[in-house]
Amino acid sequence: MFEGLREKLSNAFRMLSGKGKITEKNIEEAVQIVKTSLLAADVSYKVVREFVENVKKRALGEEVLKSLTPDQMFIKIVRDELIKLLGEREPLKLIHNPSYVMMVGLQGTGKTTSAAKIANYLKKQGKRPILVAADTYRPAAIDQLEVLGKKIGVPVITGDRKNAIRIVQEAMKQVKDSGYDVVILDTAGRLHIDEEMMQELEEIKRMVQPDEILLTVDAMAGQDAVNSAKTFNERLEVTGFVITKLDGDSRGGVILTIRYITGKPVKFVGVGEKVDDFDEFYPDRIANRILG
Ligand code: GDP
Repeated sequence: MFEGLREKLSNAFRMLSGKGKITEKNIEEAVQIVKTSLLAADVSYKVVREFVENVKKRALGEEVLKSLTPDQMFIKIVRDELIKLLGEREPLKLIHNPSYVMMVGLQGTGKTTSAAKIANYLKKQGKRPILVAADTYRPAAIDQLEVLGKKIGVPVITGDRKNAIRIVQEAMKQVKDSGYDVVILDTAGRLHIDEEMMQELEEIKRMVQPDEILLTVDAMAGQDAVNSAKTFNERLEVTGFVITKLDGDSRGGVILTIRYITGKPVKFVGVGEKVDDFDEFYPDRIANRILG
């Protein structure tokens, strides 16, 4: 993950290695490389422009720490700015009992897998999660969730396989006073955003009043993913993102752009197909991965 970006950024750092100090000229060259590296990683132009301006301002304005060489100083500044861009860590907010967590996202982004991963994560934390299979659009989704539920030892409510609203109504009745404290709903996606899907999701949101609406976003999908996240957020006011497939050769653009564009936090990252391939989002860890 982030290989291309890491390699390109290291060229920028090399520009300053062996230099006595940071000057207007050498910093300009290094900053230009940072700029093209981020653009090549599919980070939005607006984000890149602001990012490099901040880096440059700080590099020229800051007293170089005696203990750091110019290239080390520059790496530190880039690292700080990457962390700022990635945004603060915001853990899941589960307020009610039971709490509803609604998983939403386009087909293939990893929504069903992430629903199970979150259930597994919560179970390990001592919670009592239950899954609801309300993706009636993708034929295999309900069976897939049942298989995953069995694997992690979390029950799955399936109900009427054709009507998502009825499944959710039934699930709400079943979980009331049942002792399950987090209800994770897998909902239907589509290949592209469509009105019928949004209306169904709005209806489910109205019914369950979720504490969290998490949108799964495929890190490999680049700017398209960021654009669809923007639309989902405008319609549903999502509370956060699960960025999936960060284990692939993701260029980095999605994770670096999404918070800036939507204002909403990344809460988890998917790093593989298995239920345990899942981490809480820590901006400093991602920045470290990017910088190598
Ligand atoms: P949905 O249509 O959004 O419910 O997507 P699925 O949960 O069925 O996931 C689609 C494909 O992506 C499946 O083959 C999953 O195993 C795979 N997948 C999901 N999350 C990840 C991830 O973090 N990394 C990798 N490599 N594959 C993932």
